[in-house]
Amino acid sequence: MVKKTRKILLLPGDGIGPEVIAEVKKILEWMNKTKSLDFVLSQELIGGASIDANKVPITDEVFYKSLESDAVILGACGGPKWDNLEFSKKPERALLKLRKELKLFANLRPAICFKQLVDSSTLKPEIVSGLDIMIVRELTGGIYFGEPRGIEPMENNQRKGINTHTYTTSEIQRIARVAFDLAKKRRNKVTSCEKSNVMEAGVLWREEVQILKDKEFKKVDLNHMLADNCAMQLLRNPKQFDVILADNLFGDMLSDEAAMLTGSLGLLPSASLGIKDKNGRVRSLYEPVHGSAPDIEGKNIANPIATILSLSMALRYSLDLEQEADLIDKAVEQVLDNGLRTKDIISPNKKEVSTSVMGDAIINELSKNLH
Ligand code: NAD
Repeated sequence: MVKKTRKILLLPGDGIGPEVIAEVKKILEWMNKTKSLDFVLSQELIGGASIDANKVPITDEVFYKSLESDAVILGACGGPKWDNLEFSKKPERALLKLRKELKLFANLRPAICFKQLVDSSTLKPEIVSGLDIMIVRELTGGIYFGEPRGIEPMENNQRKGINTHTYTTSEIQRIARVAFDLAKKRRNKVTSCEKSNVMEAGVLWREEVQILKDKEFKKVDLNHMLADNCAMQLLRNPKQFDVILADNLFGDMLSDEAAMLTGSLGLLPSASLGIKDKNGRVRSLYEPVHGSAPDIEGKNIANPIATILSLSMALRYSLDLEQEADLIDKAVEQVLDNGLRTKDIISPNKKEVSTSVMGDAIINELSKNLH
């Protein structure tokens, strides 16, 4: 059988980044050994680790390597050691550069509430148990980037803060297409959020999403919802949603809100997808939602599941390995079924395990499922 070669770049970064990426690496190496896959793995410095070694948050070499990889999986960047650097030299600049230069316009954040962990959520178990939502947030446009922007002096010692919310037809339809394509592989439903009651850009958003649906996605269910109502519905009855589509600003808020429905930061993966390069490869970056957690760095207690589920998203969305992604998702569920928990999700009568033991346990379940 001809082996397919796929280049994966691991960027552990700072704090707990190296600890959680080590578990991803173990899984990839296990997959190389046991399945007819051939991942070519490489690992590079980013963030504070790169500043310490190379004086810059990301070197050109690492940046170009990320352009040539089939998937980039990142741990986290930043920490108190580099907090006093000026903004343009901070570790987090590396991430901003990657997002910008890879033109990662679509941020995918699943909010899944594992039935084994319903008690970690602040909402009632019956509201969140079995929750499985995908938030699709536009990442490169809207009010965070629109011009004009700034703070202007005014008369009488007043000042004016200005940001501009703009979206074009192509920007809206590009992100809506991602949401519709995802919905087709899920429960076939998209809820598109805006504020068309008070914003012209919201009216355009609603119209363009509808036009695309009518033209190319007739079979997908689409409903439009005002973003403030969506924020309320996420708390009232989150299971009504399948895919939520939103612009940069509303998506920022709604994805954080949805994240909290699931209970723990240590469980939430994310994917950022870009445009296709000249070889038809979609540029992408996969990372846990959490940061570098300096308070627990080096203690082998970080939860590696968010990063492992980010790997699963990479297999699904960048590497065309749907089955392998399913295997990982199932193994994570089984480990939770078996009562293993890292410190952040521990509850009575469950067994507390370290980062590395959690990774080993997931590999153990993967092995069982393979035979
Ligand atoms: P954080 O997500 O690092 O930590 C918040 C809290 O959650 C901490 O108590 C931490 O111990 C806990 N936590 C986070 N991930 C966990 C895991 N996997 N397992 C167990 N517990 C976990 O957020 P913060 O403290 O606000 O930020 C710390 C640093 O990370 C800052 O320098 C920030 O700039 C950076 N950061 C980076 C990214 C990124 O690289 N994408 C994202 C957010 C924050």
